[in-house]
Parts: sequence; C-alpha cells; structure tokens
Amino acid sequence: MHAGSCLCGSVKYAVSCNLNFIVNCHCQFCRTAHGSEFVTVAMIPADKLEVLQGEELLSRFEVSNVAAFRCFCSTCGTRLFNHSPSANMISLITATLTDAVNLLPLANVNMESSNREFVQTNGLPSFDTFPSVEERNKL
Ligand SMILES: [Zn+2]
Ligand SMILES: [Zn+2]
Repeated sequence: MHAGSCLCGSVKYAVSCNLNFIVNCHCQFCRTAHGSEFVTVAMIPADKLEVLQGEELLSRFEVSNVAAFRCFCSTCGTRLFNHSPSANMISLITATLTDAVNLLPLANVNMESSNREFVQTNGLPSFDTFPSVEERNKL
C-alpha cells in the first residue's frame, strides 16, 4: 500500500499494489508535460489506484495520439498520473508519493526522443522505445 498527494494537498490517492515496475520515461509527451528532461513513473493496473480526496479537482487532459489522459491537480498543477483506458494502465508519477521508500527505477525508456546531452542514465539499462514484456522480464 502506498499513498501520495499533490503539492497543495487537495488531491490524495492510495495505491493497493506493489510498485515493482518503475522506469524513467524520456518520451516527448512526458518531457513537455512536466517541463523536465524525464519523469520517473510506476506502471500499475488502473484499478489499483484510488483517489481518496479531491477527485473534483483532478483535471484530465487527453493526449489523443497516445490515447492517454494526463491527470493533474487543477489547483496547484501537480501532475499525479497518466491514465490509459485502452490499456487499463496508470503510470504514476513517483515523485508525488509520500512514502517512496526503497523504490528504484529499473530502466530508462523511450530514449529515442531524449535530449541525451542533459541526461545521465545512472548506469540503468536504456531502451530506445518501451521495452517488450520479454525485455521487461529480464530487468
Ligand atoms: Zn494540488
Ligand atoms: Zn513518457
């Protein structure tokens, strides 16, 4: 069980599964949406995340070409997670966890759109796109 919130504390959520697949995503959508060179996300089934408070303040911006919603607090602007309804997956922004103890990213993904000069890979395996299930199982 994990928990997190946005900067202003209006939106709070709980996660009811282990966060065992965490990656640094370097895709252009993440980079632009965060104003950051990459973002660390935990991939979880969508039904394992529950918004406990502030659902009415949660804005959902659809990125239509990737069929995913960028979900953020409309009060303070904190990006909390991305939701892909078709894949039934959520990529949770680990920086919003209030208890991110002993969590480590396994890999860098979507490096093909990375601004590589700015980024240190920290010795992690790096993939040009999103790794296949087979590749993920080897991490
Ligand atoms: Zn907020
Ligand atoms: Zn991304």
